[in-house]
Amino acid sequence: MTKTSDVVIVGGGIIGSAAAFFLASDTTFNGKITVIEKDSSYQGSSTTLSAASIRQQFSTPENINISLFGIDFLRNLSEHLALENEQQPTNALDIGLQEKGYLLLASDKGQETLRNNNLIQKELGADISLLTPALLKERFPWMNCDDVALGSLGLSGEGWFDAYSLLQLFRAKNKELGVIYKDGEVTGFEKSGGEIVAAELKTSESASVEKISGEHFINAAGPMASRIAAMAGIDIPIESRKRCVFVFNCREEIANSPLVVDTNGVYFRPEGEHFICGTSPLDGHDPECFDYHVDYSLFDEHIWPTLANRVTAFESIKQINAWAGHYAYNLLDQNVVLGTHPDVGNLYFANGFSGHGLQQAPAVGRALSELIIYGKYRSLDLSIFGMERIINKTPVKELNVI
Ligand SMILES: Cc1cc2nc3c(=O)[nH]c(=O)nc-3n(C[C@H](O)[C@H](O)[C@H](O)COP(=O)(O)OP(=O)(O)OC[C@H]3O[C@@H](n4cnc5c(N)ncnc54)[C@H](O)[C@@H]3O)c2cc1C
Repeated sequence: MTKTSDVVIVGGGIIGSAAAFFLASDTTFNGKITVIEKDSSYQGSSTTLSAASIRQQFSTPENINISLFGIDFLRNLSEHLALENEQQPTNALDIGLQEKGYLLLASDKGQETLRNNNLIQKELGADISLLTPALLKERFPWMNCDDVALGSLGLSGEGWFDAYSLLQLFRAKNKELGVIYKDGEVTGFEKSGGEIVAAELKTSESASVEKISGEHFINAAGPMASRIAAMAGIDIPIESRKRCVFVFNCREEIANSPLVVDTNGVYFRPEGEHFICGTSPLDGHDPECFDYHVDYSLFDEHIWPTLANRVTAFESIKQINAWAGHYAYNLLDQNVVLGTHPDVGNLYFANGFSGHGLQQAPAVGRALSELIIYGKYRSLDLSIFGMERIINKTPVKELNVI
């Protein structure tokens, strides 16, 4: 059976749902939107397994502007995602946004980069301040700053929130706007000429393959993006790479902690009464991976020593929980691949965000809606993230990748 839609979105995580929202809420667009999601519990999705944080501290102007729009969207959720046809509890739009900032620490070697980035960030209106070790110590007395040359702190516009709540708000609003969420796994595409005409999917309701035809298709499959691309005959350099997050308790009070990124990339931040922390795997230990096994050696051998060096009270912490999720890791430059490929004109990609896709969802969702409705970017030109750079192997040189 073939059902028809105007836009078919593969993947109903934060990117697919944000794209659906901006399409459905554009009053000039009356098309039918279907989001196909293979697991609506989202247990294995990057969105729900992320560290759920947002920062302005990038080096690429486009990434900074994307996050500036992101924080504005999150601060004003009630303007965007409040339901109109239903009474909602007063706290329904509270995603627990905590604007406590990112603090990026640099050793002598890294301080010039922080200074250069700061110039760009400030020019674009990001509220980021450079702090000497003495100022850092004054603000965060619990921190050891002996080996730090400079810190870069987001005074506002940076912090963390509840990603699952945000996703559920998008879903509820989308459904009110008429978006259809269809449970099923996309297993292939039907093509005609150079274009896709239908997505083929397996569902629990039917033994036979169902088809949903459409004019435009979006690949929002997160770490599975390459598989969806391959179904359309396109090769993209995006792999699923495991990232582990560890939860720990600290007996002493660590007041006013931002999300701290240490000089070697280890990060920690408060999470309710606890802390979470993580880091990228060491070089040569980061293969393509789809399992969810936590690599505890990363915590014991790499993260904990770094934490204990930075905060004396972290010498006696208790690690109480952990989980693993996956980055859609762009091998070329760890930035999003956005837009169509010359070989298939109606398949839009929004993949390869690596560690910063959640915060980019509002701006990327809006960008996808503009490409589909108007055929071009209207509010923020994101053409540097286009497929051409992948084909020509010309990376976007973002210096702040975490
Ligand atoms: C440990 C960790 C920490 C992170 N921390 C941050 C952070 O602090 N800030 C930040 O901005 N970003 C962070 N990220 C990155 C962020 O989580 C992702 O970039 C973002 O969630 C990507 O959203 P998505 O919708 O593309 O992917 P997903 O959330 O994975 O959604 C894709 C969906 O597609 C579905 N799907 C896949 N294949 C198919 C198919 N064939 N048919 C139908 N459905 C399919 C999946 O079930 C899934 O629900 C982190 C990621 C991880 C793993």
